[in-house]
Amino acid sequence: MKAVKIKYLLNESAKRNLIYSVKGWVRTFRANRFIALNDGSSVENLQCVIDFETFDESKLKLITTGAALHIEGLLTKSLGSGQKVELNVNKLDIIGGCDPEKYPIQPKKHSLEYLREKAHLRIRTTTFASVMRIRSSLSFHIHKFFQERGFYYINTPIITGTDAEGAGEMFRVSTLNLKKTPLNDFGNVDFKKDFFGKETNLTVSGQLEAEAYALGLGEVYTFGPTFRAENSNTTRHLAEFWMIEPEMAFYDLDDNMDLAEKFVKSVLREILSNCINDLKFLNERQQKEDLSKPSSERNQMSLLEKIKFVVENNFVRISYDEAFNILRDSKPNKKKRFKFPISDWGSDFQSEHERYLVEKHFKCPVIIFNYPINIKAFYMRRNDDNKTVRAMDILFPGIGEIVGGSQREERLNILEKRITEMKINREELWWYLDLRRFGSVPHSGFGLGFERLVQFVTGMNNIRDVIPFPRTPQNASF
Ligand code: ATP
Ligand code: MN
Repeated sequence: MKAVKIKYLLNESAKRNLIYSVKGWVRTFRANRFIALNDGSSVENLQCVIDFETFDESKLKLITTGAALHIEGLLTKSLGSGQKVELNVNKLDIIGGCDPEKYPIQPKKHSLEYLREKAHLRIRTTTFASVMRIRSSLSFHIHKFFQERGFYYINTPIITGTDAEGAGEMFRVSTLNLKKTPLNDFGNVDFKKDFFGKETNLTVSGQLEAEAYALGLGEVYTFGPTFRAENSNTTRHLAEFWMIEPEMAFYDLDDNMDLAEKFVKSVLREILSNCINDLKFLNERQQKEDLSKPSSERNQMSLLEKIKFVVENNFVRISYDEAFNILRDSKPNKKKRFKFPISDWGSDFQSEHERYLVEKHFKCPVIIFNYPINIKAFYMRRNDDNKTVRAMDILFPGIGEIVGGSQREERLNILEKRITEMKINREELWWYLDLRRFGSVPHSGFGLGFERLVQFVTGMNNIRDVIPFPRTPQNASF
């Protein structure tokens, strides 16, 4: 008999009084009688009831938390109150035993820190299974959103020869012998002898290549891994993360902001209707966690309320100038409560400022646009004031920056000037400049950090808990 998914048996429409076969792992085994079985298909377990008198002692001993079982039984209305149905076991095979003394995942609450050290087993907890099911669904709905709108999915290189992507420190890719690196006449490492005959790194963004494809396919998006060797040990930064980068020909900054807002809302709406059981579980989890915190640190809205709020309300759009004025005149700034006081126009906002705007001042997602030219990348389109560029960041409560994007500079002479001003290696960018030489058009795009979106949807505080095997400074186990 072919095994069915537990999710299917727990569904209202599953026919009762029929024999089913299921395969999964034991979450708990109570009173020598009740097995809570989970196969990863749902947040709830299937209660399997055995008649222990018909089982020999040695087999009963093998039904332990973590063991893998194959069970056949009759699906009936449950006599207990905790569940609607249960499976009355006729046949039970131990597929893989599990020593309960040594198994790191006990049927009790473990700290997230502890579970990070058991990243290969943490997926067997309800919390991680919910987070990862939501992650998977988000990823599907991201593709769906773009595919339904005629965007093409493109794969940009992971190994890049361009060091001008301008988004932070990079990881070198090399096959040179570290103990005996070849040197050139100037005493520097001779990368001509390296695998690619030049210096190469892991990409920090697929944007520049996506631009090339947008200027031929019209509207494209990437969804792939990106790498940043930034030594920032925060709850929002990974060394390896996934990014969604749409790039659109003939879009100006307003079109770009409209798309980003519609995109985020649309995928959140899909998760509300497709992952509601997992969301409800995580919602409750957060509420319980809040109770153990001082009231000032508790979430003002529940997880579900927060997601609905974002779906139903317009994001506030303000220019850097407006944001700057609000922050400069704000109470925490006047009372010197910001670690980085706001005084001079032109400096970048820190996360404390972003949080003030989003969580205290507007109490909703905020898009800030037209940033000072000196704090943004070379490829962003210069405004006529010569002081600002057509950049936009979307800031979310609890997360800070979730999207960073811009209208790109399509005018060759201005782009060349900017590259020179910023002392960027122009030779590397010959092909990028070609895009402005041959049929250049206004175009725009943005990057959304996938894990930050998963964080927002699941309410997980630490970005290390929303990716299966996180990569952070000093940590690349598994
Ligand atoms: P931040 O200021 O938060 O470091 P950034 O300005 O470096 O972000 P961008 O270069 O604009 O970010 O990258 C686009 C998006 O990628 C960001 O909006 C964010 O969602 C995500 N992102 C950036 N760096 C990381 C990281 N180290 N780990 C996870 N996500 C990241
Ligand atoms: Mn950064």
